[in-house]
Amino acid sequence: MAVVSPLTRADGVLLKRDDLLHPDIPGNKWRKLKYNLTGEPIVTFGGAYSNHIRAVAAAGREFGFPTGGVIRGEPVRNEVLDFAVACGMRLMFLDRARYRAKASPEVLRLVREEFPGHRVIPEGGSNAEAVRGCMEIGPELAHLGEAVVCCPVGTGGTLAGLAAGLPPGFTAVGFSVLKGGSFLHDEVARLQTEALGHVTPNWRIETGFHFGGYARTTPELSAYIRDFETRHGLRLDHVYTAKMMYGIRALALGPTVVAVITGRV
Ligand SMILES: *Cc1c(COP(=O)(O)O)cnc(C)c1O
Repeated sequence: MAVVSPLTRADGVLLKRDDLLHPDIPGNKWRKLKYNLTGEPIVTFGGAYSNHIRAVAAAGREFGFPTGGVIRGEPVRNEVLDFAVACGMRLMFLDRARYRAKASPEVLRLVREEFPGHRVIPEGGSNAEAVRGCMEIGPELAHLGEAVVCCPVGTGGTLAGLAAGLPPGFTAVGFSVLKGGSFLHDEVARLQTEALGHVTPNWRIETGFHFGGYARTTPELSAYIRDFETRHGLRLDHVYTAKMMYGIRALALGPTVVAVITGRV
């Protein structure tokens, strides 16, 4: 799957169409998983609607390794989890208090007991391997000469790698999809340090376009999504890419702006 995702154009912005990278492991999930897929069993963490859980389950089915999903909250079924189970993923539910403590030795021990021999990948798949995978976006844009390259920010792995891989003269702007997203600055810096040993100075995070918080929307954002789809035939997802595209339109970022379309609805 060594394809280069295409560049298209909408409203004066170049769209890096990573949503087209893989049918079941789209966008940044493909890039973040690429170097995490060693053939060993994997267990990872996410909410009940997590795109990351869905992508890991699909990767397990496609490449033939066992997968485990540690899901936040009381046991539920929905289309994401049904898909994951159909792919062969085994699920474990953790109440919210335990889930919050998922990096603690006690909770990790529970997870390792349930999924022996599985490699543990953090929530959202953001680790040093994910940063390495996202570093491959930059070279695919080098022919532009210089640009401001944008992505949504959930856990920060995508921005950390995107910025780290950009050629000189390029900068990266992340759009937080979380309310109170200023902590993400430290997260991105931590991920870059883990992967590279240093923090690159070529990125920043916009925190004013969360529309109420994670997975929240407003009539204004919904209207924007409908209008964008009518004019460009591309449906932006309300959790991530719509908030970035709305933010890009509101800011004057420079003559050449690239938006990484990190996934799809
Ligand atoms: C998971 C996801 C993100 C968040 O990426 P992080 O690396 O966690 O910041 C962004 N966009 C889409 C479409 C996603 O599915």
